[in-house]
Amino acid sequence: MPAQAFSASVFVVGAGPVGAVLALELARHQVRSIVVERSAASAAHPKTDDLNGLYLNGRSMELLRRLGLARVVRARGVDPAHRADVVWNEGFDRPPISVWRHPSVHEMRQRYATVNDGSAPVEPYQRIPGPVLDELSRDALRRHPLVDFREGWTCADLRLEPDGVVATVVEGETNLRHTVEATFLAACDGAGSTVRQCLEIPLDESGPRAQHCTVSFRSADPVLRRYADAFLTIDARWLTLVARAEPDTWAASLPVPADDPLAADPVALLRERLRTEFSVDQVLGVVQWDGALAVASTYRKGAAFLVGDAAHQFYPVSGHGVNTGVADAVDLGWKLAAVISGWGGPELLRSYELERRPVALFNRELSAGLLAIRARFARLAAAGVSRECLAGVLEQDGYQSDNIGVHFGQRYAGSPVVWPEPGDPPGWAWRRIVPTTWPGGRAPAVRLAGGTELFDLFGVGFTLVDLSGRGIGAALARAAAGRGVRITHLAVNDPAVRACWERDLVLVRPDQHVAWRDDTAAVDWNAVLDRVTGHGTTRTRDVQPRLAGQTQA
Ligand SMILES: Cc1cc2nc3c(=O)[nH]c(=O)nc-3n(C[C@H](O)[C@H](O)[C@H](O)COP(=O)(O)OP(=O)(O)OC[C@H]3O[C@@H](n4cnc5c(N)ncnc54)[C@H](O)[C@@H]3O)c2cc1C
Repeated sequence: MPAQAFSASVFVVGAGPVGAVLALELARHQVRSIVVERSAASAAHPKTDDLNGLYLNGRSMELLRRLGLARVVRARGVDPAHRADVVWNEGFDRPPISVWRHPSVHEMRQRYATVNDGSAPVEPYQRIPGPVLDELSRDALRRHPLVDFREGWTCADLRLEPDGVVATVVEGETNLRHTVEATFLAACDGAGSTVRQCLEIPLDESGPRAQHCTVSFRSADPVLRRYADAFLTIDARWLTLVARAEPDTWAASLPVPADDPLAADPVALLRERLRTEFSVDQVLGVVQWDGALAVASTYRKGAAFLVGDAAHQFYPVSGHGVNTGVADAVDLGWKLAAVISGWGGPELLRSYELERRPVALFNRELSAGLLAIRARFARLAAAGVSRECLAGVLEQDGYQSDNIGVHFGQRYAGSPVVWPEPGDPPGWAWRRIVPTTWPGGRAPAVRLAGGTELFDLFGVGFTLVDLSGRGIGAALARAAAGRGVRITHLAVNDPAVRACWERDLVLVRPDQHVAWRDDTAAVDWNAVLDRVTGHGTTRTRDVQPRLAGQTQA
C-alpha cells in the first residue's frame, strides 16, 4: 500500500494514559481524532511506570468515571483492601523507623460514606499496574468509532501551518511515511516528546536531572515480605521499594551514576546498596529513567499543545505525574471539542496553558519538597542520627501523604474563561476538600437523597445546576443552547446540595469546575456566556465584577 494522507480535526501523538484520556474526552464530545502510538500492541520493552504501578488519585478516578472507565480500572487494579502506606527504614533487616499511614480504598470509601457535605470525593484513589491501565485504555481506543487508532505508528516530524499542522508519521512494519493534516495537534508523547523538540519548546528545569534504574523482580524472601503491606518503602540509602499488585513481586528504584550503563547484575546492585541479603527468584525487568523537575516554558505553539509528561515531569515521589496529565487531557479535550464544534472561542484555547501550567508548577514544588524530605532523611541517617530522632522528624512530615486538598483543590483563579467574583475566596486546605462553588474550583460532590451522585447527573457540556426551586435557570439554559452552547439545565431540590452549593444558579463546566454562579437570573447572560465559552476578548474585559449584594438589571 502506498503512503497515504490523512486528515483529522485533532491529531493525538502518543497513547499513554494521557493521550488515551484526551482522545476519549474528545470522543465524548463527538469529536473524531487520529491517535498514533509508537509501540505496537505488545510492547517489547516495559515502561518505567509499568514496573512500579501507578497511583491514580481520587480526582483522576472522578475524571475517569465521567469517561466510563473507573469501574473497569478498579476491577483490574490493586485489591481495594490493600493500604498504600509509605514506610521509612534504614536497612530491610530492621523494623521500620516511621510509617505514613494511607488508608485502603475500602477504608476511604467507609470514611466518605459517613459525610455528605461536599468534603468527600465521589471516588477514592486506585493503584493499578501500568501495563493494565495501558491495555484498558488501548482497548477503549480500539473500540471507539470516533477514534482512528494506529498502533506501531510514530510521529517523526511536523510543521505548523497558519490553519493547523502537517505531520509525518512512520508506519511501523512497512516504514511507509504518511502525512497527517490536522486542525489541532495534542502532543501526549511523554517526557522525551518528539513534538516538543520539533516545536523547539524548552523545558524550564528546577534542579539537575538524576538518572535512575528500576529493577522489577519476584522474591518471597521474608526480609521483603514484611513490607508487602506498604505501597512505598523508602530506605535511607536512596532506594525505594514498591510492593506491586501481585504477591511477592517488587520494584526497586535507585539513582545510578549518569555515566554508568545499566548494571550487568541488577540484583547484586540492590544487595550492595542495601547491605542486606535477600533471595530473588526472578528478575522481571530493568529500566532506566531520568528524575527531573521540569515544566515546558509554554504549553502551546500555534495549533499544537503539550499535554501530560510532554509538558511536565516530576520525580515520581509524590504521584503527581499521571494525575496532572489526566486533568490536563480533560481540560484541553473539552476546550478543543467546543472550538471544533463551533461554540468555543479562542480564549478557551488560550486558557489551557493559563489554567494547567500553574498546576504543574505547583506540583513540581510539591515533588521538590518531598524530594528534600528524602534527602534530609538520607543525610541524617548517614550522620548517625538516632532512630527515634529520625522517627520524630518524619512524623512531622507525615502531612505529605495526607494531601487530598492538593488533588481536589485546584482552582483556576484568574482564568480568562471563569467569571471573576469579587471578594475573598474561601480558604484552601492541604488535608481536606473545602466544599465551595467559588468560580474556578471543582464543584462540591454530593450524594442526592436517593443515593445518586450529583456529578453523575451532569451533562456532557456545561450544566446549569438550578437550586432556586423555581426553575429560574431554564430560560438561561435555553438562551445558551440558542447560541449553540452544549448545556444541560439541572433542577435540583436536595437539602444536602443546597447546604453546600452556596448559590441558586451554578454553571458547571464539562470538567466539573465552576464557571459562574449567582442567585439571580437577572444577569448579563450574554456577557457570562461570552466569557465562559472563550469569546470574551473585548466585551468581557470591560465587564466589572459586581460588588457583593449589588443586583443587576
Ligand atoms: C518509576 C516511575 C513511577 C511512577 N509512578 C507514578 C505514580 O504512581 N503516579 C503518577 O501519577 N505518576 C507516576 N509516574 C509518572 C507517570 O508514569 C507519567 O507521568 C505518565 O506515564 C505520563 O503519561 P503520558 O501519557 O503523558 O506519557 P507516557 O506514559 O510516557 O506515554 C507516552 C506515549 O507516547 C508514545 N510515544 C512517544 N513518542 C512517540 C512518537 N513520536 N509517536 C507516537 N507515539 C509516541 C510512547 O510510546 C508512550 O506510549 C511514575 C513514573 C516513573 C518513572
